[in-house]
Order: sequence, then C-alpha cells, then structure tokens
Amino acid sequence: MALKDIKGVGPRALTLLSKIGINTVDDLVTHYPFRYEFLVRGNLAETNDGDHIIIDGKIESSPILVRFKAGLNKMNFRLVTASGVVGVSIFNRAFLKSQLTVGTTITVIGKFDKPKNVITASEIKMESLSNKVKIEPVYHLTSGLTNKNMALYINMALLGQSKEIHDSIPLKYQEKYNFSNKRLALNIVHNPPSKEKLKEAIIRLKYEELFEFMFKINYLKEENKKANSGIARSIDESKVNNFISSLPFELTKDQVTAVNTIIKDLKRPNRMNRLLQGDVGSGKTIVSFIAMYANYLSGYQSALMAPTEILATQHFSNLKEVFKDYNLNMALLTGSTPKKEKDLIYEELKNGDIDIIVGTHALIQDDVTYHNLGLVITDEQHRFGVNQRANLQNKGQKPDTLYMSATPIPRTYALTIYGDMDVSTIKTRPKGRKKIKTVVKTNKEIKDVLELMYEELKEGHQIYVIAPLIEESENSDLTNVNDLKEKMTLAFGSKYKIDLVHGKMASAAKELIMNEFLQNKVQILISTTVIEVGVDVPNATMMVIFNAERFGLSTLHQLRGRVGRSELQSSCILISDNDTKRLEIMENTNDGFEISEEDFKLRGHGDLFGTKQSGDMTFKIADLKADYKILLQAREDSLEYLLDKENDANKLRLISAIIHS
Ligand code: ADP
Ligand code: MG
Repeated sequence: MALKDIKGVGPRALTLLSKIGINTVDDLVTHYPFRYEFLVRGNLAETNDGDHIIIDGKIESSPILVRFKAGLNKMNFRLVTASGVVGVSIFNRAFLKSQLTVGTTITVIGKFDKPKNVITASEIKMESLSNKVKIEPVYHLTSGLTNKNMALYINMALLGQSKEIHDSIPLKYQEKYNFSNKRLALNIVHNPPSKEKLKEAIIRLKYEELFEFMFKINYLKEENKKANSGIARSIDESKVNNFISSLPFELTKDQVTAVNTIIKDLKRPNRMNRLLQGDVGSGKTIVSFIAMYANYLSGYQSALMAPTEILATQHFSNLKEVFKDYNLNMALLTGSTPKKEKDLIYEELKNGDIDIIVGTHALIQDDVTYHNLGLVITDEQHRFGVNQRANLQNKGQKPDTLYMSATPIPRTYALTIYGDMDVSTIKTRPKGRKKIKTVVKTNKEIKDVLELMYEELKEGHQIYVIAPLIEESENSDLTNVNDLKEKMTLAFGSKYKIDLVHGKMASAAKELIMNEFLQNKVQILISTTVIEVGVDVPNATMMVIFNAERFGLSTLHQLRGRVGRSELQSSCILISDNDTKRLEIMENTNDGFEISEEDFKLRGHGDLFGTKQSGDMTFKIADLKADYKILLQAREDSLEYLLDKENDANKLRLISAIIHS
C-alpha cells in the first residue's frame, strides 16, 4: 500500500507529510508522538488562578454568541461540574453552537480565571472524561497539518495495513519478553489506553529498533570474521620507515602504535576493519597517509573518502605536498570534477594508473571500477553511517578499511555501536601544542571580542568566525553570516581581507575562498558550520563563535579544533547571552572524551553523531543513552539469532536489507 492509497490522504496531505519526511506508510505509522498529553480531570477548588484545567460536566445554560468585527466571535455558557458550576468562554467556535445544547455532557480544556470563575477554553470535546486518565499523542507537525489530522492518517494507515507491517522481533524473543505484536504496539503508541500499556509498547518498539540495529552490526562483524578473502601483502617496511623519517615532525607515541597496528593488519590475510579514533588535531591524517603509502608499496590502489569537498580538496593538496618527491599518481574526484576529467579518472582507476584517489563518497559508488583497490580510508566516519560500512563490504573487491573519527564516543558506547570494528585510539597530542584558551562572552562584551581579534590579526594570524545562520530570517534573531561579514568589514576591512563560506555556495566558490584562507590571502573567514570537519590551517589561531548556545558541546569542540594546530597559542571565544553554564564546560576542558561524556549526560546521543548526515545513527524511538540496557540485551539476542542455524524469513529479510542498503 502506498501513502496515497490511505483513506483521507489527498494530494495536499501528501505534500505536507513529505515536508516532514513521511513518504511511505511505514514512515507514517512510525511517526511517533514526541510527547503525550495526559488528560486528568481537574477540580475547581484545587486549581490555581491562571492554571490549565481539564474538566467535564453538563451544560447548564444555552451558549450566548457574541460576534465581533472581522468574523471573530465568542460564546459564553455555564457548566455544572462535579466540583461546582463554572463559566466557560470560547472564541471562534460559533459552528459548535447547535451541538452545545443544555444538558449535553462535554469536556473543556483551557485556562482557569479563578476570581471570575471562568474557564477560557482552547478546546471543547463532545464527550465526558472517562474515569481513567486519557492520554493524547502530540505529533511533530508542519504548518497546515493539524495534530488531529495526523492522528487520523496514522489510524487509517494502521487500519488498512495488517500484513505489511514488518515485525523484526523473532517469535522466540517476543515470547521471552512477553511482547505484544508490532501492530498492537503501534496501535497503543498512537492510541494509548493506559500509562502502563503505553510504557510496555514503547519498550517493545525500542527493543525492536535496537534489535535491527545490533543485528546489522553483528552481521557485519561475523562477515568480517570470515576473513579469508582479505589481501596478504608483502610490504617493504624499510621504505615506510624512510618515509616516516622524512616527515617534518616526529610521530607521537600513539601515532607510532597506530601505524604499526595498521601495517600488521595490512600484512595479514584477514581483512582490516579498523576505527582510528582521536581527538581533533591529534594527527590522524598522517597515519592514513602512511597506511596508503604502505598499501602502494605492496602494489595496490588506495581510496581516501571525506564527507565534504572542502576536506577532500585539502587532503589532496596535503598528499601532493607530502609525496612531492615520490612517484605516486594521485587524483581528486568530487561532485564538481568536470565530466571529461571524471571520465579520464574512471579510466585510470580501472587500468590501475592511479595509485591514490581522494574524494567524497562517490568513490565507492557502483559505477566506479578499480584495478585493484586494496585500501579504503573514510575520514570523519561519524558523518557516514553503518550503511556505508555495509556498502563497502559488499563491493566485489574486499579492500582493507580504515575509518577515522574525531568524535570521541564514550568507550562503552563505542564497543557497542562500533562493535564490528577493531579500534585504535590516539590520545597523545603532537609535541608543543598548547591548550586552547577558551572564554565565554556576552553580546554586550562584543567590543572586547573585537579588540582580542585585532590583537591576533596584528600578530599576522588568521581567524575563523562562525554563526548559525546564512541570512537574515524573519522568525529568528540569531546572528547570520552575511550580517557578520558587513560588520567585520566595517571593523577590519581597511587592513585585512574578510571573506565568507556557507553551505549553500557552489563548491568551486567555496574552494576558492578556502584556498585563499589557506594561503593567508584572507585573514578572517566567516562561516556556518561547513568548516566544522577536518580543515587544517595552522596559522589560524582564533575561533569566534556567535550564538554558541545553539551548538552541542561536541560540535563546539570540533569547531574549536580548527585552531591550536601549531605551536602558536590559540584561543576560542564563545559568544552567548544564555546557557552559559553549559558553555563553561568548554572553558574548563580541552579533552574531547570528557566533553563527549558531558554532552552525553546533557543531551543524550543527539549531537554526538552530528545532526546532518548521521543517517542510521539516529533512531526513531530508541535513545542510545537512555536505552542502553535495552541496547545491550538487543545486542546479545540479535547475535544469538544470527548464529542460530535456522534461517527464517525474517532473518533473510533483515540480511537482505543490509546487503541492499
Ligand atoms: P586530525 O586528527 O584532527 O585529523 P590532523 O591530522 O589534521 O588532525 O593533524 C593536525 C595537524 O597536526 C596537522 O597540521 C598535522 O600536519 C600536524 N601533525 C600531525 N602529527 C604531528 C606530529 N606528530 N607532530 C607535529 N605535528 C603533527
Ligand atoms: Mg582530520
């Protein structure tokens, strides 16, 4: 059944629903309420002046209708309730008048004016309150779509759909936990008969979501174990060591360990499937370069994937610099590579002329054929997702894979959600790095901020300035980057060059400006969070963030990580008029792991995986943090299910979903 086949869902509704990401019946029935309203019968004597009240009773007097200008109207009547008589007024419901006859039982929801003994109703229901609590779901909506209609569509969909709702929980576990079936659980979540039943249904749906997720992880893990298909290489390690000694710096202890582990992985016949975790600025990139060099020495091609073009471009220019004296053939492939060049690159990838290819995730799309892809590296892994992991592993060739992530995830969570991978961690920072000085300032102190910026510019250093919005918006007084550019130009424009990048710009234009910043032709770079990941300009020593309260701590930490990339003292200024308590955590620590723990405590997993492209790390009803116990149970059960010799239809469906993701 398609959405459009649901009774009552017309073309207009379809458009509205798709605005909030509902495109299939499955999307619709799993559009869970984000909260519930508990309708409990109030008592006039116990309700304070100005409070919200829900009360039922019999109409005692015929409503008196008053009409105002512009089509507005108001009705007044008296209601006899169990706790006394009360006046009711309601605006703009003249159409209800014929139903509101004396003696009719209704429920009124509204605000109680105690001195006048009147309820100003926001809603009238043509029924009494049951003795039990009535629970009403409240949905995320979009303008033009009412809560009532949403509930209606969902219930219509539930009615029309019995076979098509997939239930991923195998019978064995349904019975073990005494879970209701999926249909019933969905019905309860959208029409809760009681608090207890609702709680049970929610747990069941959370378990199912986490079961599917952990089944996927477990499946990938087991596939990895069937390792024989990997590449056993011989690597001339003396050449690798020579390369390492030629670098302008000495590797840190953790970098050395990571390199050694990776080289060991590459030599083994098993496939490498490794996550390289390390705080921003800890030097993951060079480790990946060394890995690609070793892979090249053994005669295989490497692919380095980055989540944004800016980052891919930067990796490419770094590679060219680092390997300028080496005879490696490298290429950059992104969405904006011209067609002709692209075709040539495809050709050279196929015949093996290219040793290292850098690009966005287009690199592992089906139409790209490699001569002998031996190693795939994914930078900023949290921006991709489990599906990409699956995707890679399903490609014909079975390259070794290395994932890099600067989002430190508390260990326990990492073990679970990256359970299919081995993990290396870089904790030691490159020598000589100073702590980034962080301060929180209010908008009133903007003059101080400008002065601090000026001091920095005078030293010949560069500055990032971040704001949440691109342009002025009617319904928001957040700072926007266009405005900021004007203001910064007023303040510094006579001596310094100021420019702007944001997510809506064409990537060629973005790149141009990023390059100018890299070459210090631009001194102040204003930006939305597009520069959040990876960018490396060591001469940039100050990060200024407007409306800092809008960002999660992990995001702020990532942003701050753009500075402090050399031996120069760097600083970060967080500008905010509220939520400063939370922001003070940033003043106190530079440790990404600690910050992510704090973030976890404050906001659950929400911000950790980035809000933009984290795809399948976002759950519809489960929450990695709050539901961690369920997650662990689902991990255990789904593994047991996977390893069970018997393959029922459900299992085959789950596996096929992974393979075709
Ligand atoms: P991230 O882990 O955030 O990706 P990068 O790999 O971009 O960090 O490294 C940050 C900066 O530190 C780069 O300019 C890099 O050249 C430099 N760097 C990396 N390793 C070392 C080291 N051992 N000593 C000094 N500088 C280093
Ligand atoms: Mg990086």
